[in-house]
Amino acid sequence: MSSDSRTDVLVVGAGPTGLVAALQLSQAGLAVEVIDEEWRPAGHSYALALHPRSLALLDRLGLAAEAVRVGRRLEAVDVYEGARLEATLRPEGPEGFRFLLALPQSALEDLLARRLADRGIRVRWNHRLAGLEEGGDGVVAKVHRLEKESTGYAVAHTEWVIDKELVLRAAFVVGADGHRSLVRRALGTPFEEVARSQVFAVVECGGAAGDKMRLVLDEATVSALWPLPDGRSRWSFELDAPEVSAEDRFKSRLTTRMGERHFPHLDEARARELVRRRAPWFEKDMGELGWSAEVRFERRLASSFGRGRVWLAGDAAHLTGPAGMQSMNAGLDEASDLASRLRGVLRGGESAATLESYGGERRAAWEFQLGRRGGLRPDGRTPPFVAANAARLLPCLPATGEDLAALAGHLGLAVDRG
Ligand SMILES: Cc1cc2nc3c(=O)[nH]c(=O)nc-3n(C[C@H](O)[C@H](O)[C@H](O)COP(=O)(O)OP(=O)(O)OC[C@H]3O[C@@H](n4cnc5c(N)ncnc54)[C@H](O)[C@@H]3O)c2cc1C
Repeated sequence: MSSDSRTDVLVVGAGPTGLVAALQLSQAGLAVEVIDEEWRPAGHSYALALHPRSLALLDRLGLAAEAVRVGRRLEAVDVYEGARLEATLRPEGPEGFRFLLALPQSALEDLLARRLADRGIRVRWNHRLAGLEEGGDGVVAKVHRLEKESTGYAVAHTEWVIDKELVLRAAFVVGADGHRSLVRRALGTPFEEVARSQVFAVVECGGAAGDKMRLVLDEATVSALWPLPDGRSRWSFELDAPEVSAEDRFKSRLTTRMGERHFPHLDEARARELVRRRAPWFEKDMGELGWSAEVRFERRLASSFGRGRVWLAGDAAHLTGPAGMQSMNAGLDEASDLASRLRGVLRGGESAATLESYGGERRAAWEFQLGRRGGLRPDGRTPPFVAANAARLLPCLPATGEDLAALAGHLGLAVDRG
């Protein structure tokens, strides 16, 4: 990138959403620039599974075989009420991909970034978007290139400073810059809290968890078990109010590091007790504990997915809980959808109305997903346990869109999109 250059699409953020958008745009023959304020690819593995629809998308990008090789196939979802198994669901989705794939987010990002590099597109790490201005035929982005500066004399200290300010002109901008999105803020778009936030105890442990994802519902909480490719497992236990006493939380200053961030640590006795109470059938498999932490997940939705020449996708536009891996997987689908529409506008003579439709459809989908509009409806034949928990199942099932309707159908629930 020179200090003043022009491209078709500027993708802000090299998380999974931004990388998919960039790769698809590049494969469609468009000029793309990708910037990220971090100094390297994420070392974290926050979201850790792909839905069937995401696998089909990776297949279109030529990456599914490699993803399947390094991931772990999960063929079914077991749904428990307390300790009792109530239902086993087969994942729904495009032909050839009717399974879930456990694959750490870091491995997915690595696959995508390598494929982009093969196409000659390198993510500009250490490049932070600082401002956006829309003009008649494009957008002018102000970008800060960051550099490490060592200061201090008695005690060495390193901090990131602005090394250079660049100006980048693009016909369109994709804001895939995550939950604190500057693109969203530059649009002046509110990021409303649409459902109460949830706190989860996240625990990595051993476990011969087989080839199934497990969902456990009790009267007040949801717990999800995801087997990992390395033979270990991750539990996410939703904590209800009495379990997370503020006193407990602040008594200990211990934190668990996940990637670049620190979260309050959950001690081993508490983690084992959660398994004993929520999933006694797993206790014998739990083995040695890895890290564990308490993580707060907000549930927010942008009041719009963009306008004109600036559009949002992924966590920049929505946040939800971790159990069903919905936010990242929907983000990948949005990135792909937005990339095809941008191609249509830039090369296919389509009108910008297609972008307005993207915004409207995606916001409506998330209003449903976050319980703001419609819901999952039982009928007379729905098992009582499922009918009583329909609203709590919605954010936990590992699917979105049409595939969610099919999966919920196996439980006797119909989708009402309001
Ligand atoms: C601790 C934790 C645990 C999680 N666990 C789960 C889970 O179990 N299941 C699940 O589904 N999801 C989980 N998530 C959420 C999941 O990580 C996100 O849904 C996913 O990362 C969203 O991808 P994204 O590409 O939209 O955004 P991100 O991955 O957040 O990527 C955004 C990128 O934009 C960059 N950026 C931000 N601002 C700027 C700027 N101004 N200029 C340039 N670059 C910028 C950032 O550096 C980042 O690389 C978890 C998240 C956290 C934090």
